[in-house]
Amino acid sequence: MTARIYFDHSATTPLDPRVRAAMEPFLDGVFGNPSSSHREGRIAREAVETARAQVASLLGADASEIVFTASGTEADNLALIGTIRSHDRPGHLVTSSIEHAAILETCRFLAKSGTKITYLPVDGDGLVNLDSLLRALQSDVSLVSVMAASNVVGTVQPIEELAHLTKLHGVLFHTDAVQAAGKIPLNVKRIPVDLLSLSAHKLHGPKGIGALYVRKGVHLSPIVFGGGQERGLRSATENVAGIVGFGAAAAIAQEELAEEAARLAEFRERIVAALRQTLPHCYLFGHAAKRLPGHLSIGFHGQEREVGKLLLKLDEAGVAVSAGSACSAHHSGQPSEVLLAMGYDSERARGLLRITLGRFNTVQDVERFLEILPQAVASLTPAPNHRQYAAVALDAVAPA
Ligand code: PLP
Repeated sequence: MTARIYFDHSATTPLDPRVRAAMEPFLDGVFGNPSSSHREGRIAREAVETARAQVASLLGADASEIVFTASGTEADNLALIGTIRSHDRPGHLVTSSIEHAAILETCRFLAKSGTKITYLPVDGDGLVNLDSLLRALQSDVSLVSVMAASNVVGTVQPIEELAHLTKLHGVLFHTDAVQAAGKIPLNVKRIPVDLLSLSAHKLHGPKGIGALYVRKGVHLSPIVFGGGQERGLRSATENVAGIVGFGAAAAIAQEELAEEAARLAEFRERIVAALRQTLPHCYLFGHAAKRLPGHLSIGFHGQEREVGKLLLKLDEAGVAVSAGSACSAHHSGQPSEVLLAMGYDSERARGLLRITLGRFNTVQDVERFLEILPQAVASLTPAPNHRQYAAVALDAVAPA
């Protein structure tokens, strides 16, 4: 049996064997509670603090600024709810219209208790515009939250500029960096973010462990109450093995970031170049250059409604890709809210195929994928005006 090709790293990544090796002792013999004062406890505490320093180092942060959570979702919840609850008024939160559900659903929850929410528009590439942020920065705003990179189209936001502008107005800035961390450089010494969310399973670490970077001096209210672990911001006995795995994954990502980003961007561009030749009716979603190195989101003119069938065909042929985000997979067949917000009509917004590459992908995977994809597309119902689109370049299509 030929090995499967896994091109869905935005959904999750396989555990790096080096991360697994680091975790193993903590799944077995080393089982202490980091809050215990005996030797078993102290060993666990030391491992947690080493991992905290490793995660902090990925961001150029101080270890004391990292709060471990159970997921990226929880880090997002803590950032938003924790900021709003730290004030004695419902406040005003500004976010973008293309955030992950972990942000958008938290905003919906906060709106029910009176928090005003402003959703910043994005352009056809999925970029938030600085002027729209400037207009939204009224005196009652307590937090701005804009994702560092999109899980759906891979566009990388101008986070540094957005954060600078927000800070000039004396407002806190949060970024959901779950997709960006470990893939593009993120340094909190240069980028004036106050809060930043991470998730280990997106960078070849284990599932069920995340972190929130909280800049020194930023005050948050907890959303989980109990024994006061994680500086009182996240009570619960720590997930020691998960935290150790997260630390190891962060250290590897930091060490290999530049080389890996270049390798994946080369694979991505190889796919783009090949698709221009073999499938000229294919078009790109998201910014052509300001994008995550291994992220490619595409559509097929006239075949947008066939994307569900295409996913099945690819799956049968041994390729795992996705239609938009894994979290919205249960809405498949519906137009993508992110693409609608980017200005695409409902037809095109149905047709997104997301290809996301990762550490263990090889050039052979890419070459085999480039043989399989055209065959799978050819087996779909042909686009009615297939010829008409033949001259359309992959990067030349803007929203309707
Ligand atoms: N934010 C973004 C941008 C994501 O892509 C995801 C996961 O897909 C999350 C948050 C949630 O992270 P987790 O799966 O750790 O809860």
